[in-house]
Order: sequence, then C-alpha cells, then structure tokens
Amino acid sequence: MSEAIKNVGVIGAGTMGAGIAGLCAATGANVILLDLETETAEKAIGRLTSGKRPAITEEQAKLIKPGSLKSDLQSLDSCDWLCEAVVEDVDIKRDLFTKLEAIRKDNSVLTTNTSGIPLRDIYKDMPERMQKDIAVTHFFNPVHMMKLVELVPGSNTNPAAISRLAGFLSGPMGKGVVYAKDTVNFIGNRIGCNWMLSGLHKAAESGLTMETVDALMSKPVGLPPTGLYGLIDLIGLDVMDFVAKNLEQNLPSDDAGREYLTMPETERSMLKSGQLGRKTGGGFYKLIKSDSGEKSMQVFDLTSQSWRPMSPATLDAEHQEIKTLMFSDDAEGRFAWDIMSATLGYSSSLVPEISNDIVNVDRAMRWGFAWAQGPFELLDAIGPAQFAEKYAAEGNTIDGMLKVLLDSGKTSFYSGNSYLTTNGNYEEIPAE
Ligand code: NAD
Repeated sequence: MSEAIKNVGVIGAGTMGAGIAGLCAATGANVILLDLETETAEKAIGRLTSGKRPAITEEQAKLIKPGSLKSDLQSLDSCDWLCEAVVEDVDIKRDLFTKLEAIRKDNSVLTTNTSGIPLRDIYKDMPERMQKDIAVTHFFNPVHMMKLVELVPGSNTNPAAISRLAGFLSGPMGKGVVYAKDTVNFIGNRIGCNWMLSGLHKAAESGLTMETVDALMSKPVGLPPTGLYGLIDLIGLDVMDFVAKNLEQNLPSDDAGREYLTMPETERSMLKSGQLGRKTGGGFYKLIKSDSGEKSMQVFDLTSQSWRPMSPATLDAEHQEIKTLMFSDDAEGRFAWDIMSATLGYSSSLVPEISNDIVNVDRAMRWGFAWAQGPFELLDAIGPAQFAEKYAAEGNTIDGMLKVLLDSGKTSFYSGNSYLTTNGNYEEIPAE
C-alpha cells in the first residue's frame, strides 16, 4: 500500500494553481503555493475565500502557505506531490522541473498541469529519477467544480506513482480520474475541440439560425444548454484560435481533425476585431440593457454580420430525441447528423490511440464537457449498426471501435456492467 499524499506543493498561483491548491487544502492536506512573487500567491488564496460562493473556507485556507520561488523553493522538499501550474511555456516548465528535481524527496510525484505541451517534451533528457515520477494532471477550469482530471503517465513513469496519485485525486479530492495517453490535447479536448471547430463550419454550411443550431446541439443530443455557439462564447475565440494552432502543430499528419484547423472566415474576422465572447461583452450572443433597465439577449447574425434580437427556436418532437433527430431527412436532421456523426466517427477512430478503452473516453466527455453521455454511450443510444450503415454509405471509413464492434458481431458498446474492449470482448467496467 503506497503512502498517502499529505503535503502538496503547487507552483504557479494563477487560475489553475490556485484552484488546485484550494482543493488540496479542502482535503486537509498541507499546501505550499509558490509563484514568482509571494504577493501573487497571497492574492490567489484571498480569491479562494472571497466572492458569493467561495471555493474554500477561511479555516481551510490556513493550510495553504504562500511563498515565492526565489525564497521558498527549498520548502518544497517535504512535499509528497509537486504540481506545476505555471504559464504554458515548455522552456519555463522544464527550467522549473530541473529546480524541483534538485530538491524534491525520493518517491515524491511530479506533475504538470499543461493543456497542450507533450509530456515527453518536458521530461526529455531529464534524470531517470524524474522520469519515473512524472505525469500530467490535466484539471479543468474551474477546478473545484469540474469533475475531470486527465492523468497521463510518461513512457518511463512508475505505475505505483500513478496509482498513488490517482488514489488521492479520486479519493480525498473527489475527482473523476481518466487515464489518457501522451497525445495532443489528451482525450477531452481532442474530441471536444474537434466538435467545436468542425461544428462552426458545419453550422455555417447548414443555413440554420444560431438559435436553432444551439437548440439542436444541447438537450436533444444530451449536450449542455450552451450548445455550440454559447460554449464558444464562454471559451473565447482567442482560446479557440490558440487550440487550433496547437492542433495544427501536433496532430498526426493523417488525422481527420486536420480538416478543421482554422475557423470560418466570419469567426476569424470577429477574432480580429476583438469580438471574442463573454470576456469582451459579447461574441455570438450579448446581453443588452435598455434605457429603462430591461435586459434582453442579442444574436450576432453571421450572414449579415450585425446584431439582432434573439428569437428562441422551437423544435419539433422528432427533433428532440437523438435517434429520430439524426435520421430526419430535413435541414435540422441533416445538420445534427453532419456534426455528430463526424464527432462520433472520429471518437471511434481514436481508440486505442488516445485511450486504451471506450470507458475513459466516455468519462472524459461526461466529466470534462458535461455531456450527458459520452460518444460510445451516444452510439449505443443511436444504434451502432444503423449508424455505421449510414456513415459508411456516405463514403466514410469504419475504423477503430466501430470496426471492432461490427467484426465481433456485438450490437452495443456496453452490455450491463461490461464494456467492449479493443479485442472485441466484454469486460467489467472499472470503478470510477
Ligand atoms: P495563469 O496565467 O492564470 O497563471 C500562471 C501563473 O504562473 C501566474 O500566476 C504567473 O505569475 C506564474 N508564472 C509565470 N512564470 C512563472 C515561473 N517562471 N515560475 C513560477 N510561476 C510563474 O495560467 P493558468 O490558466 O492557471 O494555466 C496554468 C497552466 O494550466 C498552463 O499550463 C495552462 O495551459 C494549463 N491549463 C489551463 C486551463 C485554464 O482553463 N485556464 C485549463 C487546463 C490547463
């Protein structure tokens, strides 16, 4: 039985580092939170206990000791887990890991919270001792609310280090741990960003209004109420552009996601003019207040490129269920099929490249993107054989897990308490 994690060091007191430090303190662990200046860490702790819904109590905040890298690096030598959450820059992260390696105690676990840098680029040419104890812990924002943590080992990481960390993440920290591989954007963002980038193009081609697109891409397919445009408003077109550039650099050369690495022209011009989303007061939607103080929602019409009042969409009954929607031969059904079939086919093709099994893929989309069902659960709801028939008839290749399912003669990805493995057999679903 591995030693429990009781002392945690978090380096980088920005959005993610502060959230991780707060959650660790809430478990009763002692936390050291360092940034370039002690004041940055102090302010981060202040933010954790303030606001309408503070992430932690004042009592819990006392367990977090703020400091600076310059003065307090050595204090990290008692930590069982060192979690790096500084800016997304490989040289800065590598420089920091070199410093941490020099002071950390034996068997401590080192992790990076990178969202896009391959782990191998961080540990390349680093000492063997570090390579045995390093991993990615990819938390989602806001850390105290999002259930998902993607845990990614390096090629030399000791499995005991991973299981020790997983025990802390899924136990005291209450997270949903998904085991991912060291591939670009891991699982959640690999599929989720493809859905968003390809979705912008497919939505523009559909001729449907933004309200109808979002009405279809929410409840009917089991996705959150923000839909497509509402979600991108939340994330920001600047982040989408950053994500696309990272995919451009790191996606395998034959990856289907390469078809959608730039945003449509209208979205690119919105990005250029600084109309990024909620963070700039409006992107696709904006809330306005009349002189009399009445609030109303406006929509940025992508065809006329001007604002107009929002007009909520009403969907017919057969467009409110995924199975009937996906096979409806009308503009709404064709759009839903177009976007969702591409995402589901893509997800199927990515196992085992990004994950050893479908369970971790489904969990990543449920816990990180708040989908009611993951891609393979959705395929089961639609009917995998019916899906594959239409998908293949359109000239798509049936590969990955869809091929495994068809070749094995099975009719669903899940059966009772079991899931379909890459070998075409059912195995018991591992506990969360
Ligand atoms: P942030 O900009 O809010 O915070 C980064 C912090 O790092 C700042 O406080 C900065 O002062 C500090 N810093 C910069 N250089 C440093 C150095 N050399 N040494 C120590 N500290 C230094 O960033 P964030 O959003 O918290 O992101 C941190 C990491 O988490 C990044 O790798 C990012 O890609 C990843 N990530 C972010 C999100 C998100 O939604 N924000 C989600 C998942 C992963």
